[in-house]
Amino acid sequence: MLLNINCILIVDFVFEHSIFARMKPIKEILEQNLFTKEEIIQLLQSKGEQRTLLLKKSQQVKNNVVGNKVYFRGLIEFSNICSKDCLYCGIRKSNTNVFRYNANDAEILDACNFAWKNRFASVVLQSGEISSPAFVKRVDNLLKKIKQLSNSELGITLSCGEQTRETYRRWFESGAHRFLLRIESSNPDLYYKVHPKNKKHSFEKRMEALQFLKETGYQVGTGVMVGLPFQEFEDLANDLLFFKEIDIDMCGTGPYIEHEDTPLYEYRNLLKTKQERFDLTLNMIAVLRLLMPDINIAAATALQAIDPAGREKALVVGANIIMPNLTPCDYRKEYQLYEDKPCLDEDAELCRNCLEARIELAGSEIGYDLWGDSKHFFNRKK
Ligand code: SAH
Repeated sequence: MLLNINCILIVDFVFEHSIFARMKPIKEILEQNLFTKEEIIQLLQSKGEQRTLLLKKSQQVKNNVVGNKVYFRGLIEFSNICSKDCLYCGIRKSNTNVFRYNANDAEILDACNFAWKNRFASVVLQSGEISSPAFVKRVDNLLKKIKQLSNSELGITLSCGEQTRETYRRWFESGAHRFLLRIESSNPDLYYKVHPKNKKHSFEKRMEALQFLKETGYQVGTGVMVGLPFQEFEDLANDLLFFKEIDIDMCGTGPYIEHEDTPLYEYRNLLKTKQERFDLTLNMIAVLRLLMPDINIAAATALQAIDPAGREKALVVGANIIMPNLTPCDYRKEYQLYEDKPCLDEDAELCRNCLEARIELAGSEIGYDLWGDSKHFFNRKK
């Protein structure tokens, strides 16, 4: 008998001091405005009915704070020439299986014109990372031409990697007003597991670049890949807290998808299933919407590589930006950052029609002719 009581006492002691004893029901956590790291981890790990509560709440917050509109950013992947060797990326410098291209000005301006005529209101110019004077000048000229062709009506987001403070300023003055630079992981140890450890891939430099962008006056977006090998739930919770701490205006976060011609492919046996990475990305988006209700969150294209309706599912649970691909078709197969990249052969017109239908199905409305800038950007300026 005595032994039994001792056992019960021990079990009680262990329970009270274990993580389970400190876990609150999800419903209670969702009533708070601030979350501890442990609570974020619990939200990220939620499944079944608990997860449904999270996703319902984030949908509600999205609709109340940023509304039901989805804004288009026509994506133009204008060059895959890259000086970097990120271990996960299909267009890394050392991948010799890729044909390197540089779309010419007329092709890029045509795509911009399509965006403008189709009332997309904004474009994203994305490329590999090059910082030569010729590249900097070229982007600068393009920005001016895009503004000219659209009577300054097209909003421009850049996603061209780490550059000097001077370059960021020059591009800002020529018309770019948003910039996307994913931190990829806010944990330096994990960062160096997925990037070569050398000067060209410095975590500190990437952090500094985000700071420069903010000081220059851009609406700044960052993000991470979800489901990288070696990534823990705690890393993802820290990523979310990092977004909040550096006070981002926009976020693009998608699942990591392996690519055969990259060094990280070797670790594919460590990965969660694609479906798990997909679900976890939606949870990340949902928690981020709760943590930062007024930012813009993109429904990453990589979601669609796993689930044909992936981007629309992200819109339902918290995202409000979508980036229809306007890259000239011939180049698309050479901009494969990961395997199964969608819409490789769909031209811009088809892509627009297809998206329109899907977005309506997801219960949202397209914000045609509207820049749909980050509300957070203006709120933090107040
Ligand atoms: N050179 C630019 C743009 C890079 S490509 C820059 O450095 O910002 C845009 C994003 O694609 C990257 O930031 C990365 O997060 C994502 N990406 C690259 N390889 C990927 C992969 N294998 N799976 C999922 N996303 C990937």
